Amino acid sequence: MSGKAFFIDTTVCTACRGCQIACKQWNQLPATKTHQWGSMQNPKDLSFETYKVVRFEEHMGPNNKPVWYFFPEQCRHCVEPPCKEAAEDDAPGGITIDKETGAVLYDKEKLKKVKAETVIEACPFNVPRAQKKTGYLAKCTMCVDRVHNGLLPACVKTCPTGAMNFGDRDKMVALAQKRLGEVKGRFPKATLTGIDDLRVFYLLADAPKAYYKYAKVDVLPTGMDRKMALRKIGNSLKDLSREWTMIHKLAS
Ligand code: SF4
Ligand code: SF4
Ligand code: SF4
Repeated sequence: MSGKAFFIDTTVCTACRGCQIACKQWNQLPATKTHQWGSMQNPKDLSFETYKVVRFEEHMGPNNKPVWYFFPEQCRHCVEPPCKEAAEDDAPGGITIDKETGAVLYDKEKLKKVKAETVIEACPFNVPRAQKKTGYLAKCTMCVDRVHNGLLPACVKTCPTGAMNFGDRDKMVALAQKRLGEVKGRFPKATLTGIDDLRVFYLLADAPKAYYKYAKVDVLPTGMDRKMALRKIGNSLKDLSREWTMIHKLAS
């Protein structure tokens, strides 16, 4: 599979949040007003103005010592994005896949033709966010403006520990598998997510649910809901009908 991908090695993430800040800075997004809500995670969630957030989970580790799990979250740039599938009928071209990188990109004006909830609910990872006043949708862009100019995404460029990696998808898969082998002795439950169907892979030291509810979920086809399945069937039937008409015309 060609295109680009991120490999995020959470076993070396220190939650410095450099990636979070770099994302805001490059995309010229304003700071988010926050308050202490009982966690060091800040801000609390993704938003129209926050494309990347480092999630914190606290657990009791060996010898009753607390351990922290960090999960730098962003859009997973699904290879077959359910959000695109959901928007296609009402807002054709509102969500596109960049040919060079495979990045899933939103056109906020075109996407106005579809209900924001339709797109948000279609995402198995709960990523897209709408602006309250306008209904515009936003999420991580893979920094395609930088990548098309030979630069690394801002979050990757900034990461001081090597937790954030980016490059050709095949190379990222190889790096992820190599790192899994290296950490298995230290973390027997270590696992990789996303290498089959996403462009953002995580190396986790423990079960995905210990990090975040949406750290690992099924994408298509098992994650397809009834509405999307019907739409997919409908689109296939429309294609068949168009092909039948074309062949019929040619034959007559
Ligand atoms: S910049 Fe790197 S080490 Fe810091 S929070 Fe982000 S992924 Fe973790
Ligand atoms: S993670 Fe969600 S928003 Fe990102 S491409 Fe996949 S379905 Fe779309
Ligand atoms: S790739 Fe760019 S837009 Fe996406 S999280 Fe990283 S810095 Fe933000």
